[in-house]
Amino acid sequence: MAFKPANNIQDLQYFGEFGGVNPSISDSSTYTFLSAKTMFDTFEGNADGCYLYSRHSTPSNLYLGQALAAMEGTETANVTASGMGAITPVIMQLCGAGDHVVSSRTIYGGTYAFLKNFAPRFQVTTSFVDITNLEAVEAAITPTTKILYCEAVSNPLLEVADIASLAAIAKKHDLKLVVDNTFSPLSISPAQLGADIVIHSLTKFINGSSDTVGGVICGTEEFINNLRNVNDGACMLLGATMDSLRAASILKNLRTLHIRVKQHSVNAHYLAEKFEADGLKTVYPGLASHPSHNIFKAMMNDTYGFGGMLTIDVGSLEKANALMELMQEKNLGYLAVSLGFYKTLFSAPGSSTSSEIPEEEQKEMGLSDGLIRFSIGLDADIERTYKMMRECMTTLNIL
Ligand SMILES: *Cc1c(COP(=O)(O)O)cnc(C)c1O
Repeated sequence: MAFKPANNIQDLQYFGEFGGVNPSISDSSTYTFLSAKTMFDTFEGNADGCYLYSRHSTPSNLYLGQALAAMEGTETANVTASGMGAITPVIMQLCGAGDHVVSSRTIYGGTYAFLKNFAPRFQVTTSFVDITNLEAVEAAITPTTKILYCEAVSNPLLEVADIASLAAIAKKHDLKLVVDNTFSPLSISPAQLGADIVIHSLTKFINGSSDTVGGVICGTEEFINNLRNVNDGACMLLGATMDSLRAASILKNLRTLHIRVKQHSVNAHYLAEKFEADGLKTVYPGLASHPSHNIFKAMMNDTYGFGGMLTIDVGSLEKANALMELMQEKNLGYLAVSLGFYKTLFSAPGSSTSSEIPEEEQKEMGLSDGLIRFSIGLDADIERTYKMMRECMTTLNIL
């Protein structure tokens, strides 16, 4: 049966303390116990439904986690203060000194920097591979490998991971397949395809209003409880906890995600087709020319499309910068990092979000200087947007 993530979110029902249609916000960092014994049991992890301290969990955070677990179809989830606050504890929880990670080489710059520069301080090492080359992925696995890490749709090159095949490799070698699904919420459901742990930066499409950072880890009860363990849980001990007020506001934004994702996808698909027809080197998973178009198609849930992210290559950084400045001047979007906003955002990843990746490695993975990454907005009239973008491009002799 087809997986329906938005239905799963909609089918949850919660009320506020006084019958409010939104759940009450738990505006407390600590919680009282009626008996000392219950406090002891809670510290021992044996008192279900009791709240202890807000770094551990809060009612508001649990509501948001429940909705995101419903979206991904996992047993449960833990929300965190940021996307990186979700990614780093997962890696630290699964790996100790001497362990090894096999990761896609085209991943979010912060994740890349963490694996490449930070994790080795704890003797956790990483082999970066072309995630679309399954033989290379398997060949990189060693006896100490614990994690196979990728993004469902990668940042910034929009490579698509064949999640079911990667899950089979992970299973064969007893690894955890960890998938960052930030670029493709609702469109792709990695846990349904065999991923063990699904991560999002809620900062992007899921919250959708560029007013906060946030993250989530979706997985089994066992793993999420491990992360929250007061003695050795990475979420509990590293401390990147989401605030309850934010959890409540993100939950409200999550309710319109299905509508927004569709509109982002329709707009991005329209522009990608036009740009490609104009002769621009365009990367969008919805285009038949995308190397993993068919894999995305086979994985995707109905109706949400291929997402709001696309890239074009305008030949040089100078041209990319000039175009982005002109588009901003014409109010076609903002020259800004991040994604999932109502307005189009654009940046040149080589000199911004992926600048953690050394120039040589950027070249090797196909990250060229003239690349512009677009997060296409919710524009009501995308034809008008296209015409105006085209005008900018002809003015600058890009077209
Ligand atoms: C932004 C982003 C992150 C990091 O999330 P923050 O909320 O900024 O910490 C991780 N992965 C991907 C794919 C992202 O786009």
